[in-house]
Amino acid sequence: MPELPDLAVVAEAFHVALVGRPVSGARAPGPLAVRGTPAELESLVGQRLLAVHHRGKFLTFELDGDRLVFNPMLTGRFQLAAPAVPFPSKTAVVLSFGPRESPPPDAAKWTRGANWLPADGDPVEVRYRDPTQMGKAYLLPAGSNRPVPGLTDEEPGPDADDPELTLEDWRSRIRRHPGELKNLLRNQSFVAGIGNAYSDEILHAARLLPFRKRSSLAPEEVDELHAATRKTIRDAIEVLRARVPPTFEQQVRDFLAVHNKGGSACPRCGTRISQVKAGGFVTSYCRGCQR
Ligand SMILES: [Zn+2]
Repeated sequence: MPELPDLAVVAEAFHVALVGRPVSGARAPGPLAVRGTPAELESLVGQRLLAVHHRGKFLTFELDGDRLVFNPMLTGRFQLAAPAVPFPSKTAVVLSFGPRESPPPDAAKWTRGANWLPADGDPVEVRYRDPTQMGKAYLLPAGSNRPVPGLTDEEPGPDADDPELTLEDWRSRIRRHPGELKNLLRNQSFVAGIGNAYSDEILHAARLLPFRKRSSLAPEEVDELHAATRKTIRDAIEVLRARVPPTFEQQVRDFLAVHNKGGSACPRCGTRISQVKAGGFVTSYCRGCQR
């Protein structure tokens, strides 16, 4: 499932590739994924793209008046392609963009001069595909108050990489959550953007077991969890910036230390990594160096 590092990289890349372009077409080959009317989808055409950004596990396209918010859930993926490239199977939404004069001035530094960027004079498309059709695309016309579940003002906590999520804030927020650490990290109202894969990675980095209760942590372990969260997310974004474009639709996870690596050696202590599956979700951890 796309998590904060995946969506941060997609948002930065789509921002630089697409901002300033007009929408020249908007289609929904998989209309079940769309929350909104065909007329609302059609009304995106002609609007210029102002920004692409993410919040937690949501990706937002800000247009001249309207917004389009994606929640990719488990299997939603994005593709950036020339219009001549055939759609991937299970494509749910296609946004076509026309040429523009120049890239936005606030492009992320790592994208400068990247060879995957479409030429400003060429048309380009974003395709959103979702094999399980669990994800959603929310059309939010200007002034609309259509709710986006999980993204109302009070729902998500701060993004896991938000600079304003200070250690002090972390200590006070975590007090409200006494339960198991893996569930804590995946709880979007605690911090937003962490899912099944990066919760395993963060706990391995913090040397804490996933099923341990937060209420059992010593104060220095609470602090260690904060540091590990920041570092794990930051490092993953760095790796993905170099590895992901131009194939945004393939999730790169092979660099992770423990998640989905059950049976192989822990990169820190060499113990064989343990793996359990509950409710369809894999949890991977090391009995040798996590406690
Ligand atoms: Zn280990």
